Amino acid sequence: MKSLPDLTPFVNIIKEGGVVAFPTETVYGLGADARNPVAIQKVFETKGRPVDNPLIVHLSDTKMVHDFATDIPEAAKLLMKHFWPGPITLVLNKKEEILDSVTAGLPTVALRIPSNPLALEFIKQTGPLVAPSANHSGKPSPTQAKHVKEDFGDEFPVIDGGITNIGLESTVIGFEDDHITLMRPGKIGADEIESVTGLKVRSDHMNEQETPKSPGQKYSHYKPKADVVYKGVSAFNDHTLYVMQTAPEVKQNNVICYEGDLKQLSKELYDRFRQADQQGYHRVHIEPFEEHKAEYPAYYEALINRIRKTLG
Ligand code: AMP
Ligand code: MG
Repeated sequence: MKSLPDLTPFVNIIKEGGVVAFPTETVYGLGADARNPVAIQKVFETKGRPVDNPLIVHLSDTKMVHDFATDIPEAAKLLMKHFWPGPITLVLNKKEEILDSVTAGLPTVALRIPSNPLALEFIKQTGPLVAPSANHSGKPSPTQAKHVKEDFGDEFPVIDGGITNIGLESTVIGFEDDHITLMRPGKIGADEIESVTGLKVRSDHMNEQETPKSPGQKYSHYKPKADVVYKGVSAFNDHTLYVMQTAPEVKQNNVICYEGDLKQLSKELYDRFRQADQQGYHRVHIEPFEEHKAEYPAYYEALINRIRKTLG
């Protein structure tokens, strides 16, 4: 097994109330002590994050859930057992003492145990961390250490764990008496959640009502400066970066192919958005990929959710 780097300097920054970016299996998170109001304040300031967008608390052990949440439904316990550590966030009734700045004043708190070994070890050493994506609010989430430095500067403390495995943010769900609400789609899909819990999953993310249950869903994160379009490709121009399933017959330097592998597309989508901006493209043109929905249902939903937020 590869040995983990010495995390002490980063752990010390957290203990002193600072912020550190670290890799999870989804995207890089901006970590801060979940119980320190000054540290939480720094997270909002660093990101420029609207204060009504609550944070996910990252834990290293399911026992810690009881320090943050109460009235934990049986379905939540089943999901923890089945998917944690892993890319699913559970929104549960919060304990009274949880900081309002973490939950944006909501009566619930979002919890997750990440599976990335570096993340787990880091949280073991620091204790519970809030960890929103480590990007300026509105920009695509970081999937590499260099993306974090692009947003926050070269000197910003980042634990470098290479490219994140999934590349899209965690699935976020909440619990109702007779069903589960999918607030943000991610790698763990509705089918899997239904089969583990025996409960129906209903989406709260697609129709973009005035007040979605998950406040973050009303913001257009994930957006490059370039315009994003999602439609068939009929002609090529030099100002556009094309993201296509297969290469066109005539070689084009501005075409990126992922061979219909939606797992691969999820892993690199945000990097493509950043690449487009850095290389001065005016537009990112994504070829529709409906025909791969059956093969990758969860990745499909997650990708469509993120792409829809960038259109227009
Ligand atoms: P980020 O950390 O940037 O991946 O965003 C966290 C996501 O979790 C946002 O979409 C939030 O709206 C959502 N979230 C966090 N806490 C809650 C909560 N208590 N209820 C509903 N959604 C939440
Ligand atoms: Mg984010």
